[in-house]
Amino acid sequence: MSVDVLAIGAHPDDVELTCAGTLVRWKRMGRTFGIVDLTHGEMGTRGDATTRQRESRKAAEILGAQFRETLDFGDGGLVLSRENELILIDVIRREKPRLVLTSFPADRHPDHRRAGELVRDASFYAGLRKLETEHPAHRPQQTIYFSTAWVHDPTFVVDVTATMEVRRDAIRAFSSQFHDPTSAEPQTVLSQQSFLDTMDARARHFGFMIGVDFAEGFISMRPPRLDDPIAAFEGFEPGF
Ligand SMILES: [Zn+2]
Repeated sequence: MSVDVLAIGAHPDDVELTCAGTLVRWKRMGRTFGIVDLTHGEMGTRGDATTRQRESRKAAEILGAQFRETLDFGDGGLVLSRENELILIDVIRREKPRLVLTSFPADRHPDHRRAGELVRDASFYAGLRKLETEHPAHRPQQTIYFSTAWVHDPTFVVDVTATMEVRRDAIRAFSSQFHDPTSAEPQTVLSQQSFLDTMDARARHFGFMIGVDFAEGFISMRPPRLDDPIAAFEGFEPGF
């Protein structure tokens, strides 16, 4: 079994907050995707590893992921070791994604930064035939980055207006983490309604760039090929 896209985040919910609308949109176009979380999110102020596992499975179901897998690379100190790199290399080889999505390695949260570096390097090394793991060599066509804590200038943006509500549903599946007026757990920045509003506002911001209601922005080291710039800028406000 293989997937077209593998989305890999440091924490359960990173994928939902950054690229879930895009994954659902691509799924509606007939593409398949899987989600890998590098940690259980066990250091989060609210919830615990078991709760977050249950929530992340539910979110994956809402999004229509082929599978979701949780690795144990250490929340709040994600370990960049050769051992972890080899584990991730084998997951990439097993799933044979054409694209890998992960967090941009320049971020405020060290786990996001380390996740981006680890995924970027593992995706490349996965193509080395002489590097032996359980599955044969496979290198994804491209690693693409989403912004997590900090926002970066996107290389391209994807219109997610039609899938924004599914993305919100998947985010709400993480009820231990995000705004829940009935929760007795300590309040954090993430548990305020304002955080969810900010995530929506971010999608609004990316959407404004391309003249739609909501979009998700991505960074790629290589620019995507764009054969029809007239169609690509269709519907934009005219200007520079
Ligand atoms: Zn995170």
